[in-house]
Formats: sequence, C-alpha cells, structure tokens
Amino acid sequence: MQRTLDDGCCGFDDVRMRGFRERATVGQVCEWLDARCRTLGSEVVSLASAFGRVLASPVIASLDVPPFDRSAMDGFAMRGAETTGAGDYNPLALRLIGQSLPGRPFAGEVVVGTAIRIMTGAPIPSGADAVLPAEFAREVGERVEFTAAMAPGRNIGRRGEDVAAGQTVLESGRRLRPQDVGLLASIGVQSVSVVKRPRVRVLATGDELAVPGDDRKPFQIFDSNSPTLHALIERDGGELESSRLLIDDRAAIAAALTEPGADIILVSGGSSVGAEDHAPAVLSEVGALPIHGVAMRPSSPTGIGHIGDVLVFLLPGNPVSCLCAYDFFAGRAIRQLGGRLSDWPYLRQRAIVGSKIVSAVGRVDYCRVRLESDRIEPISTSGASILSSTTRAAGFVIVPAELEGYAPGTEVEVFLYDPLP
Ligand code: AMP
Ligand code: MG
Repeated sequence: MQRTLDDGCCGFDDVRMRGFRERATVGQVCEWLDARCRTLGSEVVSLASAFGRVLASPVIASLDVPPFDRSAMDGFAMRGAETTGAGDYNPLALRLIGQSLPGRPFAGEVVVGTAIRIMTGAPIPSGADAVLPAEFAREVGERVEFTAAMAPGRNIGRRGEDVAAGQTVLESGRRLRPQDVGLLASIGVQSVSVVKRPRVRVLATGDELAVPGDDRKPFQIFDSNSPTLHALIERDGGELESSRLLIDDRAAIAAALTEPGADIILVSGGSSVGAEDHAPAVLSEVGALPIHGVAMRPSSPTGIGHIGDVLVFLLPGNPVSCLCAYDFFAGRAIRQLGGRLSDWPYLRQRAIVGSKIVSAVGRVDYCRVRLESDRIEPISTSGASILSSTTRAAGFVIVPAELEGYAPGTEVEVFLYDPLP
C-alpha cells in the first residue's frame, strides 16, 4: 500500500551527507499543495490598478449602457413611418427644427413633418424613432430632403443594448483584461474587490553569493536565482514582500523564516545533503517539512513545508533546479493563493522529437529543448547548473515518471518559455 505524505513517508530525516532515503512523486506533492492552497481574502483597488487582478466577487451593473437611446450615425432623426416611399425620384422634404449633439440633446419634440440634425452618440429626441444617414439627405435652407426611406428603429442604439442594469457583467475569479477594466468604467465602477496578492519572501542562501555591483571575490558567484524568482513571482501574480541574501547559517535562516509578513517563503540553496545545507533542519524545527526529496530531475533536493499557514519552499541552488522547482510547485501555490488557475501559464505546442530524449522510469524529467519549426532537439549542455540551457531553449518537455524517455519521431507537447509565439 502506498503511504501518503502525511504518514511522514518523505518527512524530515536529516539527510546531510547521507542522501535521500525516499522521494515523493511530483503528483503527491501537487496533491499535497492543492489541498493546502486556499484563495486569499480580498481587498478593494481602484480601477486604475485593477488590470491583471482577479475579481473576488461578481460585478453587477447598476446602470444601462448606453443609458439612453442614441444615434448610431451622423444624419437626421425623424419619424420613420413618414419616410415610406422616399427615393431619388421621390424626395421627401421635412422641416429642420434643430439638432442633437453628443452631450447636448435636442430639448423639443420631433412632430409630424419635422426632422433634426443628429450626430453619432447624441440622444434620440422624443417623437423621433429612426435616423437617416447624412449621405441620403440634402439640406435646403430650413428644410431637409430625404432620398431614402428609413423604417422605425433604424440606426438607433437602444438603451441597455450593451449592458442592462442588473446584469452580471463579470464573474468572480475573472482575471481582468484591459477591456474588462473599460467595461467596468462604462457602468460607473470606480473600484473593485479583488483577491489579495500573495506576499512572497525570497531568501537566497549561500556563503558564495554576491550581488551584481558588489566587489566580487574570486571564489564568489553572482546570485542569479533571486532575479529569476522575482520575475516568476510577478508573472504569477505574487507580490515580493522582501528579498535577502543570507549566509549558510542556521540562526540567520531561522530568523528570516520566522519573521512575520509573508504568505509564502522561497529559500534558494542549501536544500540538499551538503554539510552546509541547513534549511531543511531549520524548517523542520521552526515549522514542519513533510516533503523533502522529489522524484524528478532536476530539482530532486526540493523541500516543501510550512510554518503555521506560511508555505515554505526549499528550492535547490542550482539555477535550473531552482527555476524548475519553482515552476512545478511554488508557482502553483502562488497562483492558487492569488485566485488564479493552478495550471502552468505557458503556451503549448505539439512537436516531433528529433534526437532521443533520455529519462529514467520512476522520475519526472524537465528537458530543455530547441524548436525548429515542428521538431525539437534537446539542449546538449543541460546540467542543472547551466542556466543558459534555459535561455538557449525555446521551451521544455516533461517526460512523465512512467517513461524512460521519448524516441525520435514521437509527437510531444512543448511548453514555450515565451508568452507569445
Ligand atoms: P546548493 O543548493 O546550495 O547546494 O547550491 C548548488 C549550486 O548552486 C552551487 O554551485 C551554488 O553555488 C549554486 N547556487 C546556489 N545559490 C545560487 C544563486 N542564488 N544563484 C546562482 N547559483 C547559486
Ligand atoms: Mg549552498
């Protein structure tokens, strides 16, 4: 019988300098995460900052749009029934008694035998029920001649034809598009209730890390994981609460993990079996670490736990592992807390495998690929430490645990790094 993560199957066990005893499957980890990830509460934001946010409640129109019957053409408004039979050889002459402009309506009534000049968007005055486009009319002094008939209702935009008062215009959970924000403005909405953005703390650990601009010592490397994570957090709708570089020190890691203010904490580096990999032991002391070690490549030394309600992801320091572990697990959690879909925000494309993609039964593989029209080639220099494998790649292919790879000629799904083709 398969044990679950809650049975402690892959729970904390000091693996330093010993190695993982067991690994959780990617499926088990996602299930564990999905069970824990609840959408955060709501906050009210002005329309100006609502684009891209997720609606926390439906929006119901309290107003008809347009709020009045209006002209859909520049031309003349009259009683349509009067124009029956009008044509080039039978022009109809009506008395011109005024005009209606957008924002400046005609105050009087259009009675039998009369017409008014009217512009697109201007209110239809009382008495009129059709608009004749300007090209079928000719003004002659105080009269206007019509050379076409317009049945009642023609060229009129009806009150409420766009949005009717009482109608639900956008449902809860909707991620607002630019035009959604416009539609909200059209019904007079100034602010909306949206799901709070998850506050994410980034802790990059490693004695060897320097920041671009620092005076880097010869044995130091620049921290590339933090900038990658910042961008991923933004992509997934999170808000960067803070970002810090930490040395490999238990007390420093414990202090940064336990400080309040974040919904999710991402720790990069020190998640594996090295002597200086303190994060797993520290997290299991100050919180819990039910997942440590995942059957995947790269990212197998990933850990996931929590301190109270705060989810903590221990992402391996190798830059590709860090990206991959974020994408499989941390991004999934951030998106769900923020009310988005758990699914990957990558475009997908079907493609044919060129050279064999090698994996092993029992683990999920994240394989970076080049794309040449509809054929893919695995990137050759592709270790977990080679970040440029992900910048040279068009995207990646996932080899599921039950397969030992993909043979040439197989049709597979490619996840594209670029948001647009
Ligand atoms: P670790 O997970 O701490 O064992 O680190 C694995 C490898 O990733 C080592 O070569 C580290 O130097 C490297 N590494 C750790 N953190 C970062 C980082 N923030 N940016 C770039 N490389 C890193
Ligand atoms: Mg390290």
